[in-house]
Amino acid sequence: MIDLRDIQKSYRFGDTRVPALKGVTLRVEAGEFLAVTGVSGSGKSTLMNVLGLLEGFDSGTYHCFGQDVSSIGDDDAANIRNRRIGFVFQLFNLIPRINALRNVELPMMYAGLAAPVRRERALFALDIVGLAARADHKPSQMSGGQQQRVAIARAIVNNPDIIIADEPTGSLDSENSQGIMGLFQRLNAQGKTIILVTHEEDIAAHAQRVIRMHDGFLVEDHWQ
Ligand code: ADP
Ligand code: MG
Repeated sequence: MIDLRDIQKSYRFGDTRVPALKGVTLRVEAGEFLAVTGVSGSGKSTLMNVLGLLEGFDSGTYHCFGQDVSSIGDDDAANIRNRRIGFVFQLFNLIPRINALRNVELPMMYAGLAAPVRRERALFALDIVGLAARADHKPSQMSGGQQQRVAIARAIVNNPDIIIADEPTGSLDSENSQGIMGLFQRLNAQGKTIILVTHEEDIAAHAQRVIRMHDGFLVEDHWQ
């Protein structure tokens, strides 16, 4: 499903280049629950952004869902992202002015679905995360844990194959973190592939497979 070979990537920073990935090779099969760990600055977010087709890379090859996306254009990347990948971020990235339902409808606006279909599917996604009753609440009227559930509803509403989450529990207390991890486990049991960045050991413990990044290298890969 995901096949990265010898991926190298650096960022331009003024006149210098900062290497972020120094030759990463990684295969992820459909149905896996993978945690990406490592200290700050080790390349975790860069790896997720490459995996999620949010950023390109300098060298190496990437096959995503069987397609070589090594030199894919922006429009094609956006199309794959919208249909097949759901994103969850540490700070939820909800739109503050609109309610939960409208936030969850957003990815379907880009997909061009009719309003009644959007509404029905958004309510269904909110129901999966246990927040159907809060559909008309704005982000500021919800707790952090609830906001992250809305963000997960938004990530799954287009029925993606993969969910990519970068420190999804990083802003939550331990009780809410456990709740979010339970939700990811449920989604994984229903067939979603989950790839999740965390620097917390107890969060990584929920995954089946853990890889560790260090200084731009993938240095550890084990099943648990
Ligand atoms: P992590 O998520 O593990 O903390 P990152 O992937 O964010 O690590 O960063 C890896 C390296 O790339 C770090 O040295 C970081 O400073 C650098 N980096 C990340 N994003 C950028 C950027 N947009 N511009 C310049 N350097 C960056
Ligand atoms: Mg990061």
